[in-house]
Amino acid sequence: MARIVMKFGGTSVADVEKIKNVARRVKAEVDAGNQVAVVVSAMSGKTNELVGWADEISPMYDAREYDVIVSSGEQVTVGLIAMALQSMDVPARSWLGWQIPIKTDGAHAKARIKEIDTTELDKRMNGGEVVCVAGFQGIAPDNRITTLGRGGSDTSAVALAAALKADRCDIYTDVDGVYTTDPRIVPKARKIEKITYEEMLELASLGAKVLQTRSVEMAMNHRVRVQVRSTFSDAEGTLVVDEDEIVEQEVVSGIAYSRDEAKITLVKVADKPGIAASIFGPLAEANINVDMIVQNVSEDGKSTDMTFTVPRGEFKRALSVIEGNSAKIGYKELLSTSDVTKVSIIGVGMRSHVGVARKMFETLAEKGINIQVISTSEIKVSVLIAEEYTELAVRALHTAYGLDAE
Ligand code: ASP
Ligand code: MG
Repeated sequence: MARIVMKFGGTSVADVEKIKNVARRVKAEVDAGNQVAVVVSAMSGKTNELVGWADEISPMYDAREYDVIVSSGEQVTVGLIAMALQSMDVPARSWLGWQIPIKTDGAHAKARIKEIDTTELDKRMNGGEVVCVAGFQGIAPDNRITTLGRGGSDTSAVALAAALKADRCDIYTDVDGVYTTDPRIVPKARKIEKITYEEMLELASLGAKVLQTRSVEMAMNHRVRVQVRSTFSDAEGTLVVDEDEIVEQEVVSGIAYSRDEAKITLVKVADKPGIAASIFGPLAEANINVDMIVQNVSEDGKSTDMTFTVPRGEFKRALSVIEGNSAKIGYKELLSTSDVTKVSIIGVGMRSHVGVARKMFETLAEKGINIQVISTSEIKVSVLIAEEYTELAVRALHTAYGLDAE
């Protein structure tokens, strides 16, 4: 007997037929003698619709009311799945975040889970009941409903798996696993059998959309075994596990890209102490995430160019913050573009191999692709390139690192 958390994404619960299909999959695990907790997302498209309504009423909405609205999608699906299970004679009941409770901090629309009280859930699961939990939601210290950020039901599932000391957390979605890169761009992309938490974390935060980044962080911290697999097939999925569980490690495991980037260059800022702080301080205060940064060497010892990237959605705001502080910063010219893509290679094998970055640069050079900005960490190298070369770059790198399927 195992204790498992099964999480179903929006496309898996998109309509009543699909919800019945989910119930059959859950029943199969119960019939096999397992204890099961189910976590569900809202029906696909529902959360977007709810967010749209909130935006229409007021773009400057009260985040506490936003959470009341957008958490409702999961209330519907969790009730339906419990009902579908009951109609198959599987004992089940639904749980909203506050009923458990799943306690979060008070950061509405992007709350973090603090604690899950599993007393009642444990009791029920030990008694053979399937507990069906609404993903994406919790309750703040002041008793108001919170949500965990878009894609947050992955995090609900992993957190619940950690709290329930589950043997596995299966994330059911509409793809059959994690791929070496986006199969829509590279038809030769391969499904990865096992990937480390660290690599999955980089892949998720660098643009692969299969798991919410925070859920991977949580899985890594609590050593939750996560499996990503398809609701619509019986194919084996991808296991996200500890590094020592992987016998044969590729040097580069995956290639990610993100078009969600914009580049800003401040031409001729003074080359003196405090200049970076004068630029990035106000951006931080405005809650703008700066990602890649390069500061050129100054030719004359007096001035230099500073280039950095921000998410596309924060581009306009970033520009106005810089312009608003132009007198304090002092620059000659402000250049900006959103026609850029960040392409990244990821692999824990980089720690022990040399020449990995060089191969990336050479491969791009052979294709005539100019690298605008570079950033690295222990297990990844990212480059910023012109957006029009995205597909070409990803395909060339996928081949260069031997990732193409035969
Ligand atoms: N329904 C929420 C969203 O669309 C949470 C989730 O699906 O994970 O973001
Ligand atoms: Mg999702």
